[in-house]
Amino acid sequence: MNKSFMPAVKTAEELRELQLEGLKWTVNHAYHGSSFYRNRMDKEGVRPEDIQSLDDMKRLPFTTAQDLRSGYPFPLLAVPSEKVVRIHASSGTTGKRKVLCYTQKDIDDWADMFARCYEMAGLTRKDRVQIAVGYGLWTAGVGFQLGCERLGAMTVPVGPGSRDMHCELMVDLQSTVFCCTASMGLLMAEEIHRRNLRDKIGLRKVIFGAERHSEAMRRKIEEYFGIEESFDIPGLTELYGPGTGLECQKHEGIHYWADYYILEIVDPDTLEPVPPGETGEMVVTTLRKEAAPLIRYRTRDVTHLKPEPCSCGSVLPMHGPLLGRTDDMFIIRGVNIYPGQIDDVLSQESKVGSEYQVVLTRGDGQDHMTIRVERAESVSLSEDELIISRLEDTIRGHLFVRCNVELVDYGGLPRTERKSKRVFDEREVGIGVF
Ligand code: ZN
Repeated sequence: MNKSFMPAVKTAEELRELQLEGLKWTVNHAYHGSSFYRNRMDKEGVRPEDIQSLDDMKRLPFTTAQDLRSGYPFPLLAVPSEKVVRIHASSGTTGKRKVLCYTQKDIDDWADMFARCYEMAGLTRKDRVQIAVGYGLWTAGVGFQLGCERLGAMTVPVGPGSRDMHCELMVDLQSTVFCCTASMGLLMAEEIHRRNLRDKIGLRKVIFGAERHSEAMRRKIEEYFGIEESFDIPGLTELYGPGTGLECQKHEGIHYWADYYILEIVDPDTLEPVPPGETGEMVVTTLRKEAAPLIRYRTRDVTHLKPEPCSCGSVLPMHGPLLGRTDDMFIIRGVNIYPGQIDDVLSQESKVGSEYQVVLTRGDGQDHMTIRVERAESVSLSEDELIISRLEDTIRGHLFVRCNVELVDYGGLPRTERKSKRVFDEREVGIGVF
């Protein structure tokens, strides 16, 4: 029998006890190890011994991405630097990148968490895991590899690589699992389809990380690869990297590793917790992280908690899909919209593909939104009018805003191996891109 990486606790009550113990440890460790946290908590007048229940965590101040940047190069460091065995960094689109430190225990915990992802996805030591995400400063590649080795499966560490190399190895090595961004998954699935390799590969599952994707995109990837199922893996460099949660095989939501961190969902404007099930910003507090502990860290990722337990019976709670980041949100005619909401609506229409762009313009004194989406393969142009009016109605019904839909040919929108840009805001002078 293989070792299990599932939590030691079995009931919600035991989980809460474990969380309280971890919370107390973290606050004490951060206060005594990090001048940043000590100053912040002193300023708020809260001391480690004030944390006596999980409810007391509301007294703790929030931590933000800005705090990480201003602490460059080693923000939030709560251990002596000789205990740090590795750093990772997130790609900085603006300003300095965020550098995060890891002790050996942090790395071990991350490997255990990631092995749990694979276990939850039903992998065993017999699986061969082809990794198509980047290595290096980025947490992705090495995280997928650590977890795979911890589980005892075979790692095929290709990195983004060329499509030729991925196809060749997938056929020759009979990889059973492919780990990628959703964009790369779509590219490769289309490639396998185009080269007629479906019967020559042994792929069973795909795990997507690092990028929000729509249900439509996922169905396309599953269909073209001819696989049983796919899994959505969340990940944040600040919180170890990918591997801190995964859907189970029931696919009812993303289980998150509540024995390693506490997840709160707050209103990004008021910072008050939202009622259970409502959408808001994810705020995380780590329970065991040594080098760079997080206390109420505002991730800027938007999702909701699932109030109902999963039918799989796991003690681990679930959150919904990530709808985007608070800074991906755009406002049109007074309505807040996350790109993920547009994904959701488009996924309900079978005659369009998964690729789309949103273009925001200004004219006649008001904002206009155009959604450019690919016609599904083999859908005839004669159906355009009907599809357009149906989509425009659905979007108005769901998002409470009018838009124009434009259909383009299948394959007509750019594909990338990294994250696709989807929202183009042309309302200001020049062209702003989210
Ligand atoms: Zn489940």
